[in-house]
This record gives sequence, structure tokens and C-alpha cells, in this order.
Amino acid sequence: MFGKKPPAAEHSGKSEHSGESPHSGESPHSGESPHSRELVDVVLIGGGIMSATLGAMLARLQPDWSIVVYERLGELAAESSNPWNNAGTGHSGLCELNYMPDPNDATKAADIARRFDLSREFWNSMIPPGVHAECISSTPHMDVVFGARDVAYLRERFATLKTLSPFTAMEYTEDPATIEEWAPLLMQARPPHGPIAATRHPGGTDVDFGALSQLLMRTMTQARVQLCHEVRHLDRTDDGYWQIRGVDLSAGNAFEVRSRFVFVGAGGYALKLLQKARIPEVRGYAVFPFGAQFFRTQNPRVVEQHESKVYSQAALGAPPMSVPHLDKRVVDGRESLMFGPYATFSTKLLRKGRWTDLFTTLRLRNAPVLLAVGIQNWSLVRYLLAQLVASRRRKFAELQRFYPSADPADWELIQAGQRAQLVKPDRRKVGVLTFGTELVVGGEGTIAGLLGASPGASTAPSIMVELLATCFPDQFDEWKPELRTLMGASPPVSG
Ligand SMILES: Cc1cc2nc3c(=O)[nH]c(=O)nc-3n(C[C@H](O)[C@H](O)[C@H](O)COP(=O)(O)OP(=O)(O)OC[C@H]3O[C@@H](n4cnc5c(N)ncnc54)[C@H](O)[C@@H]3O)c2cc1C
Repeated sequence: MFGKKPPAAEHSGKSEHSGESPHSGESPHSGESPHSRELVDVVLIGGGIMSATLGAMLARLQPDWSIVVYERLGELAAESSNPWNNAGTGHSGLCELNYMPDPNDATKAADIARRFDLSREFWNSMIPPGVHAECISSTPHMDVVFGARDVAYLRERFATLKTLSPFTAMEYTEDPATIEEWAPLLMQARPPHGPIAATRHPGGTDVDFGALSQLLMRTMTQARVQLCHEVRHLDRTDDGYWQIRGVDLSAGNAFEVRSRFVFVGAGGYALKLLQKARIPEVRGYAVFPFGAQFFRTQNPRVVEQHESKVYSQAALGAPPMSVPHLDKRVVDGRESLMFGPYATFSTKLLRKGRWTDLFTTLRLRNAPVLLAVGIQNWSLVRYLLAQLVASRRRKFAELQRFYPSADPADWELIQAGQRAQLVKPDRRKVGVLTFGTELVVGGEGTIAGLLGASPGASTAPSIMVELLATCFPDQFDEWKPELRTLMGASPPVSG
């Protein structure tokens, strides 16, 4: 693993070219990149929240290591981490009913709550209090459900959660007047209705993961961030280093660098790159792209009447990430409301990707796995088809189920990010569609990547601690005290 395998780069970001600074020499020499012999300690592929989190941690734990970030777009955090490409929910188990399908089993909700606590501690440590509000806003998290069956479920869920410490501030009601007090838009002009119930926790958050990524990247003072640089090849050399090659899309030049460790934080393109690295750990893995749309309003008259994120139950056959919710959002200091998501489909694996993306990930080993998932998930396929053909009017009717007096003139439909949902081989079923996030580690701990999308950004810090423990066992014990300082009294790691 790192520290045992290839020897450390004997510099802090210095190129092996004599006298060349790591920030210089962008032009190629006779077809060869100026960085072709450059050796760095860490390469982060992708400029989203995952690379930003890992980079910020490493910069703090090991300031003498050289780090290079490659981002294919002209700006950081412009894909899934961009605030309008995701829902901005600080997932902490307060309102996500899909984390608790059995109302008596709070294991997953409690785990997410614990991990989100670590995230909050980490962000508090890394980001100066003065700029904190740029990316994290306090927003109560609510649930609302309709009909006797779902009301019974929510009542039982509340009874389970209220005894557990992260959830004790949660309130429950079946009284329409109280729900109206908590979230007026839900009850205004609501026609006669059957049983209705809601929970509310005041300690929820709305997170601008784009602004957060930028702030975390800024803490990596020793890093070189290369925008418009698309990584296309990853090869392990005989001496144990990774050779990373790609194209500077702004100049049309090739670039090349060697690194002791590579993190593939490329979002929807992560599987594609890990396949290129030829690590056996992703053999048979595939991805299935799910896009999303939301309705958004910035009409102050509407926005000022809603202060929460209100989640509900998913429609029959809908995947867990399609749970409908009406959210207060704060982006660049401006307040909006957002409702959705509505599923969309495209073969692109990134919002700004290429139509050929999905096909480039197909291999002999994973094609049957993907096919098996399609055949076994008819209700999901039916749900997707229904969403794809749904008119704007039909989509708006779903919003009116939450907010009966919503006026179509106030709302615009916006395209959000692409999720590359992970599909894994399975002995019994051939293939299974998973909805979580999976850290993949290969090359004896010299390369790692993140696949899947949920709970995603909210738990990035605890995922990265897991990565550090797995990939850097020789340094990890030394890093533990600093990690505890960064992530609070409850240590992120045992020992
Ligand atoms: C619709 C939707 C709603 C969501 N809602 C939430 C939510 O409410 N809460 C939550 O916590 N999470 C949510 N998520 C998940 C969250 O957005 C992701 O988990 C998170 O943003 C992933 O971060 P990332 O850094 O891995 O990927 P990204 O932010 O997508 O960053 C990957 C970067 O890698 C770059 N890249 C790709 N390939 C290359 C290459 N070859 N060379 C160089 N650069 C490359 C891309 O351009 C991109 O900038 C949601 C996601 C979606 C799509």
C-alpha cells in the first residue's frame, strides 16, 4: 500500500524536469507533454465534493505531499455537486423515509445521522465561521404523508425515532392546523382530505455542495488545480506508480503525470476510468444513468411562505431517490423553492457528458449483469417510462398534491444532475441495482474511486476517512489525532 509500494515523491509538487515549477510549462514539446516525467504524491480526478473532501483532508494531514487536481470542465463542482444539480439535502435520517422502510428499524437512519454529524464537524473545522453561511443553511426537515396506511407507518416510525438521541427534537402531528403552522403551503386550499400526518425536526440543513466544494478546494494550498484537463488513460507502471494521461481541452494538448496514489472522484465517469485502470475490483460492474428534473420558483411571495424541506413517500415502483419533496433552498444567498425529482433518461453519465457514455462502459462481463437488472425491475422500467412521457401538466399535478394552490406561472422546470446508479454482479440474480455509494479500492491501495450516488455528498467526510484507513495504513495511526480534531469528540475511527 501507499508508503510501502512506490517510494515517496521527493519534493512537494516539483516536476522532475530540472528547475521546472509545477505551475509552469503548459505548452508541449515535440508532441510530448511537459509533465510527462513529473511525479506527484496524489492525483485527484474530478473537481466535485468527493475530491475536494479528500484533498482538503490530505492537505491538512500531510502538508508536504504534492497534489494535482484534474477537472475536465472549465470550473469546479459544475456536475452533480453543483447546487442546482442536486437537492441540497444534508441527509441526516430526519426526513428520508426510504432509509427506514421498516418503521421499527432505525439502523440505517441512525447511521446516516451519525455520519452527517461527522460531516458537520469536519465542515465546521475547515470553513471559517464568516463564510459558513455561504454553503450551509439551517432548514427544518419534515415528512408529510396521506392516507391511513402511511399515517400508521409515520406514527410508528416517530415512536421508534423519538427515543434515539439524534432524533429527540422531532415532533409528530395528525392535526391539520399544526401542519399548516409548520408549512402553510401544504394546507392552503387543500380540498377535503382523509388522514394526514407530519413530523418536523428543527435541526435539518440545506447544503450548497458546490460552494462547499470550492471552499474546501481553497484550503489545499499546495495543490495544483488544472481545469479543462480530461483524464483519458490510467496505467500502472512496473515500478508501482500510476501514469495518468489526458488532454488539455482548452489548448488541445496532451498531458501526462505519474503519481503514487490516484483518487477517481469523477462522478458518473468513475466506473469508466476504473475500467481503464484495469483493476479486477470493478469486473462485472456496470452503471445505469438516471437523470432528474425539478420545478423551481423564485417568486418571493411564494418562497417566503415555506421554511422547510418536506419529504413524502415515493410512488409505487419508484426508485428510492425519487421520493418527492418540496424544499426551501438557499443558493448564492438567494432563496428559492424546489420540488421534485422527476426521473429523466439519457445515455450520458454526466450532465455535460457525451451520448456515447453508457456504451463505453459496456463489456462482455457486465452486459448480462445490466440486462438482468432491466428484466428483474419491470416496475422500475414502467415507472421510468411513465415519467418520460409525462407532460408538464401531469408533473405539475404532483406538485399540487403537496401545494394545492401552486400556480404554474410561478414555476420553471429545471434539469438537474445525472446519477450513475451502480449495478453489481450477483451469483443468484446475475445482477442487482444498488442505490448506495461504494468505495472501490484497487492496486494494493494505490487507487480508489467512488461509485453510486446516495447518500453521497452528505457523507463524503466519513467515506474519505474509510478511504484513508484502507489506502494509507502506514500513515493512518499518525493521522488519527488530527482527524479527531477535525471531526469532533466522537472519533471517526476506532482505536
Ligand atoms: C438529482 C440529484 C440529487 C441529489 N441530491 C442529493 C442531496 O440532496 N444530498 C446529497 O448529499 N447528495 C445528493 N446527490 C448526490 C450528490 O450530488 C453526489 O453524491 C455528489 O455530488 C458526488 O460528488 P462527486 O465529487 O463524486 O461527483 P461530481 O460532483 O459529479 O464531480 C465529478 C467531477 O469529475 C469531473 N470529471 C469526470 N470525468 C473526468 C475526467 N476523465 N477527467 C477530469 N475530470 C473528470 C466532472 O466534470 C465533475 O466535475 C444528488 C445527486 C443528484 C444527481
